[in-house]
Amino acid sequence: MTATKISYATCPLCEATCGLEIETHDREILSIRGDEEDVFSHGYICPKAYSLKELHSDPDCIREPMIRRNDRWITVSWDEAFAEIERGLMPILDEYGRDALAIYVGNPNVHNIASLLYLPALLQTAKTPNFFSASTVDQMPKHVAAGLMYGTLFSIPVPDLERTEYLLLLGANPLVSNGSLMTAPDMRGRLRRLRQRGGKIVVIDPYRTRTAQEADEHHFIKPGHDAHFLFALVNTLFDEGLVSPGKLTEQVAGLDQVRILAEPFTPERVATTCGIAASTIRAIARALASAPKAAVYGRIGICTQEFGTLCSWLVDVLNVLTGNLDREGGAMFPKAAAGARNTAGIPGHGRGVRFGRWKSRVRGLPEIYGELPASCLAEEIDTPGEGQIRALITLAGNPVLSTPNSERLQRALGKLQFMVSVDIYLNETTRYANVILPPPPVLARAHYDLALYQLAVHNVANYTPPVIEREEGSLDEWELFLRLAGILAGQGSRADISMLDDFVITTLIQRDVSQEGSKVEKREVGELLEMLAPRRGPERMLDFLLRSGPYGDVFGKREGISLTTLEAHPHGVDLGPLQPRIPEVLRTPSGKIELAPQPIMADVERLRISFEQSSTQGNGHMMLIGRRDLRSNNSWMHNLHVLTKGKERCTLHIHPKDAAHLELIDGNMAVVVSRAGSVEIPIEITDAIMPGVVSIPHGWGHSLSLTRTRIASEHAGVNTNILSDEAKVDPLSGNAVLNGIPVTVEKAPT
Ligand code: SF4
Repeated sequence: MTATKISYATCPLCEATCGLEIETHDREILSIRGDEEDVFSHGYICPKAYSLKELHSDPDCIREPMIRRNDRWITVSWDEAFAEIERGLMPILDEYGRDALAIYVGNPNVHNIASLLYLPALLQTAKTPNFFSASTVDQMPKHVAAGLMYGTLFSIPVPDLERTEYLLLLGANPLVSNGSLMTAPDMRGRLRRLRQRGGKIVVIDPYRTRTAQEADEHHFIKPGHDAHFLFALVNTLFDEGLVSPGKLTEQVAGLDQVRILAEPFTPERVATTCGIAASTIRAIARALASAPKAAVYGRIGICTQEFGTLCSWLVDVLNVLTGNLDREGGAMFPKAAAGARNTAGIPGHGRGVRFGRWKSRVRGLPEIYGELPASCLAEEIDTPGEGQIRALITLAGNPVLSTPNSERLQRALGKLQFMVSVDIYLNETTRYANVILPPPPVLARAHYDLALYQLAVHNVANYTPPVIEREEGSLDEWELFLRLAGILAGQGSRADISMLDDFVITTLIQRDVSQEGSKVEKREVGELLEMLAPRRGPERMLDFLLRSGPYGDVFGKREGISLTTLEAHPHGVDLGPLQPRIPEVLRTPSGKIELAPQPIMADVERLRISFEQSSTQGNGHMMLIGRRDLRSNNSWMHNLHVLTKGKERCTLHIHPKDAAHLELIDGNMAVVVSRAGSVEIPIEITDAIMPGVVSIPHGWGHSLSLTRTRIASEHAGVNTNILSDEAKVDPLSGNAVLNGIPVTVEKAPT
């Protein structure tokens, strides 16, 4: 008989990376609680963490590979599943070329070290230009702004929450999201401490969110007009002589251009457009400039709009102009222990970023960091012609619920000749697959937050070995990725995983030993490989990245960390508070902060024109925005009772004045119509929302047939992406416009 076991793990469900204490017996999870000794979260967890227990035993979870025969799913062996993929996929690629294949990657992959480390191998063997991900319905504008200003996609400054004294938040609800592109467990505690030490929080949002309720000030803003507001703050700083970049003055290029670009956006001209009085805008600009330590932070609400990249850029422009970028208590750059591009190569210089190396076939939208906009996926499938997508691989993604114009995408998916999904659920997207490959249960795989520690408000590193043993014969994600890569590389369905894994790590090491400025520059590949033995898979890759990273032991050359160090510290390793990093963090060709990158400067004209139009034309529509919920993040969470029980959450929030005007009654149904589609949804009247604006949360809409998510089906809700318009994107980033969608609202026919 085996005894119960206590393990320490990092929660893989959201960006906060909380430490968990998990009690197990064999493969059964007995309890989950916060890890009091975790160096980052100190015992804090949210209700989602408890759902890991239910997820682990969810009877709807797929445990073995499945093949679809007409509308029947058959459980098969791994070998049969991969053979089916080879039979189904390769003839299509042989006949139509690699352009006929697309890969879509969902958001859970960012929490998965195997996916992050082995996806590049899959993409390299796929050789397709059609790579899509959830990034372009979420945060791509942030990556574009960061790349253009600082040289790498993850150089996104985060508020130094423990030391700041003034926090201006736009389009962000961290009390509910627990932080996004800002890894910070226990957001409530951090924001409370900020206010207890005399600090001030100001929220700009079309909705009085939970964060806004706890803030010192909240101002409604008309959806989609954050760029106008932010530019007016910049204008005020110049106009009132408040610009003071401090120690950054010598490090910044383009200050004058920003001043000129901001000239038309006076608070007085912008006030009507954004719905915030000029006096308030000026007061906020002055408060920002006079606070000893301040940070501006904007998140999903400012990214998922027509001017998402301009908004993301302006947030950082404000941090620079007020001298708050890279200073304690301002917006700072984390220094992650592994995998960060802003710690690779020669400090302070780099090649910067380049976009538009290829374009989407139908609409001609540029590639960004190797991706095409998810908004283009449906048209690339349903538009005939050379290069048409005929086969799709989805990796832990549910684009039917998460990308714009879902109904068009559903019709398109139905036309595919072949589709493979790596997923734990038969959901609204995977029901179109021919083969579903289940990854291992989330607690049966190793975990390290390679991406999220690059955004952490305190430098930490924490490795979680698998908490429970994998079922015999099951595959880990990295093995699954390599078997798919083997098929795409023409090695057949039984490719030698071990050999491919050796190839992947060797390629990684070769890249680093030949990179100028690398900590392992000119070292022998064979020697390093030997020092990583006997590890395999993601652990071997992670050990290499840690040892060659900024805190690493450089393979015996100095005192430092390795994976062995992290294994000896199950509550994580504290690497210290954020430190100023400019200029070493920069990887721009100029070695400076590019405050006025050319693509962004060119896009300001679009904002200026829209500003003049909106100033004179007004807007007769209701505007639709999204809404975040503490017990939801990804759509699959709706299949867990603990996260769906209670009052219905998928409702239309509307202001009492609008409800009265439209004769809508709380609890009755409304019809919401946009250019893309229409939905019928229960009405919830609340003065938390701005007049003229309505809100629907995302990730719902589980009423489709042929899925196997029983709890989600009982709490189906409606899919807000039936209303979002695939034709509208932020042109600089390709990001979907999910906020500020013009809609009409009326009562549903009885
Ligand atoms: S806040 Fe996020 S990381 Fe922390 S317990 Fe909740 S879901 Fe997990």
